[in-house]
Amino acid sequence: MVTFRRFTLFFFLMLFSLNLWMLFSGKSTTGFIYEHASFLYVLLAILYFGISFTMAFLPCSNFHHPVICRGRTDGNKIALTFDDGPDKVKTPLVLEILDKYNVPATFFCIGKNIAGNEHLLIKIHESGHLIGNHSFSHSRWFDLFSAGRIKSELLESNRLIKQATGLAPHFFRPPFGVINPMVSKALKKTLLQTVCWNIRSFDTLNRNPGKVNHNILRQLRPGSIILLHDHTLFTEHSLDKLISDILGAGFYIVPLDNLLQIPAYEP
Ligand SMILES: [Zn+2]
Repeated sequence: MVTFRRFTLFFFLMLFSLNLWMLFSGKSTTGFIYEHASFLYVLLAILYFGISFTMAFLPCSNFHHPVICRGRTDGNKIALTFDDGPDKVKTPLVLEILDKYNVPATFFCIGKNIAGNEHLLIKIHESGHLIGNHSFSHSRWFDLFSAGRIKSELLESNRLIKQATGLAPHFFRPPFGVINPMVSKALKKTLLQTVCWNIRSFDTLNRNPGKVNHNILRQLRPGSIILLHDHTLFTEHSLDKLISDILGAGFYIVPLDNLLQIPAYEP
């Protein structure tokens, strides 16, 4: 597997080789490498930073950090996940629909949304659902924060969730699904297990609920983890049909810890 560490090692080997070539080829050399040395240095730098940057947006590549994106199961088990709550208005609606079908889900909660909504966390927990950590601020600049600041956010969210429910989450989902070396460095200093998804519903962007529903069902496989959000119009108006269609297609919706065979909370 290509990881950031191996990739960086390879990059420096390339750089070292290029330097050696330049050193021993002599100034009289008129070969391609000598003549295009500046271009090659720039190209190497662009490739290094370009690939590292791009891979930050592909968490399931495990490039920057180990991430789980699906469960390994022989049965038709899948898991539902909802990000960005708790939401005073929308989260209760989601809970109602889940309750109607008696299916479990995992709520990746944002720490700053917890104040005043502690009762929702308790309700999520008491209804048999799981709670995960989705950072404290969910800032659009989260990935540019220092590792120390990211770690503080993760610990603060876990502290708030534990204060409300008595349980500290083990599962973490990065805001916007982005993981760079700083996020990875922070995560390594916690007990959190990063869990993303292999079916992105795009429920925050796509205004056509039929299409969102169709896209999810089309990609459904044993072990799938579906990314949804508490607060979208799709969740509000079409979650009912989605669950009905998933069950109708012969899949079982199970808790994330069951699908992954990993505890959802810290010991
Ligand atoms: Zn989010």
